[in-house]
Amino acid sequence: MTENILVIGGGIAGIQASLDLADKGLNVYLVEKSPSIGGRMAQLDKTFPTNDCSICILAPKMIDCFNHPNITVYTCSDVKSVNGSAGNFKVKVLRRPRYIDEEKCTGCGDCIHACPYESPDEFNVGLGKKRSAHLYFQQAVPRVAIIDEKTCTKCGNCKIVCEAGAVDLDQKPKELELEVSAIVVATGLDVFDPSAMSEYGYGKYRNVITSIQYERLINAAGPTGGHLERISDKGRVKRLAFIQCVGSRDVKNSPYCSTVCCMFSTKSATLAREHDPDIENYIFYTEMRASGKRFQEYIDRGKTEYGIHYIRAKPGEIKENEKKDLVIWYYDRESESVKSLEVDLVVLAVSLLPSRGSVDLAKILGIDLDEDGFFKLKDKLYSPVDTNVSGIFVCGYSKRPMDITDAVIDASGASARAAEFVAAARCR
Ligand SMILES: Cc1cc2nc3c(=O)[nH]c(=O)nc-3n(C[C@H](O)[C@H](O)[C@H](O)COP(=O)(O)OP(=O)(O)OC[C@H]3O[C@@H](n4cnc5c(N)ncnc54)[C@H](O)[C@@H]3O)c2cc1C
Repeated sequence: MTENILVIGGGIAGIQASLDLADKGLNVYLVEKSPSIGGRMAQLDKTFPTNDCSICILAPKMIDCFNHPNITVYTCSDVKSVNGSAGNFKVKVLRRPRYIDEEKCTGCGDCIHACPYESPDEFNVGLGKKRSAHLYFQQAVPRVAIIDEKTCTKCGNCKIVCEAGAVDLDQKPKELELEVSAIVVATGLDVFDPSAMSEYGYGKYRNVITSIQYERLINAAGPTGGHLERISDKGRVKRLAFIQCVGSRDVKNSPYCSTVCCMFSTKSATLAREHDPDIENYIFYTEMRASGKRFQEYIDRGKTEYGIHYIRAKPGEIKENEKKDLVIWYYDRESESVKSLEVDLVVLAVSLLPSRGSVDLAKILGIDLDEDGFFKLKDKLYSPVDTNVSGIFVCGYSKRPMDITDAVIDASGASARAAEFVAAARCR
């Protein structure tokens, strides 16, 4: 029985679980598939219900986690196999090459400036470009560059300018073997791609974007430096519409409610008004689901203080006119008639899905998924963080839709169960 615990996924839930476990004196291996820890919260501009700057709250936790003496963070890494049982799991982890030596890189950015190749920036969800040699995002932890193998031509410019000698274009994948007593899964969410819902024109009309793209658009560290502008012509956004439940509460896509969208669209509309007090905001909603403490008051303030127009309707179609304005067609329940609204930008609150790869990870871990693809609990009422496999616990959005506050609480619950498990074995 070791005192090592594996945490899979380095979003806010995985970070919180790792910190809680490490503060109890246990050794944590945190495996994150992307080049930085932080998860979705790192992409957000502000967070409801307080409208605090998301990265300002998250960054100190990311740094505490990375620098904690009891936590080893493996980014660009995937869990490949798990054998054994509770108290004695043997885990194989594959570390994909960054083509930059993590030990040597100082994060100075010289390689980025020297890199001549550009491609769409995944962190900014396709808005804006990144160089082949890049930092995943400005506040990435670890602050180590990465070279995108899909777009790098191996011109070697980065190698020439790197004074630390950190560039290694021949870096190969590495396999690690870890022994752990318990596992906490915190793999979070992915967003639905609305391209298939042709009625909303996503992918066809440039001024139709998703909620996560909007978060990047109004973020000071995002592709426009935080200027809220139309994508097609960088024009001023005078009328802005949000469409709720795109793909969610929809039997053809995700039948469940993603839980956070009523609140975050209100947040987004509020922030738009703070950017420009003359902006007109419309939220097309199915039902208002604002069930947290003082959440209804947040929505009410959106109406009274920020003048948000809430329209209870599911638009049937969006059409673009010759000026690239968008015309939203909907059935208005109040007047019992079909109406249209012309706006400059449409934001689709797309459904939030269990993270891609959950099916494979469930197979590797031997844990069950529920009917919506989230990790299944042993017992929703009495064991809310236990899976069907003893010693494997789950928390955050990978378990069910939840906001940041609930993900943090849940992570502390899962880490407490994992620590309890090790402590019980220690006493035997
Ligand atoms: C547009 C939008 C706006 C939002 N606004 C708010 C808000 O204002 N307030 C609020 O409270 N909530 C908000 N949320 C919800 C919030 O983002 C989630 O509650 C929170 O991110 C959940 O944290 P998590 O750690 O469970 O998952 P995530 O943040 O998704 O983190 C999961 C991590 O696991 C990693 N991972 C995934 N699969 C694997 C794997 N197989 N192996 C290794 N690593 C893996 C991912 O790369 C990621 O780093 C918003 C969500 C969206 C989409």
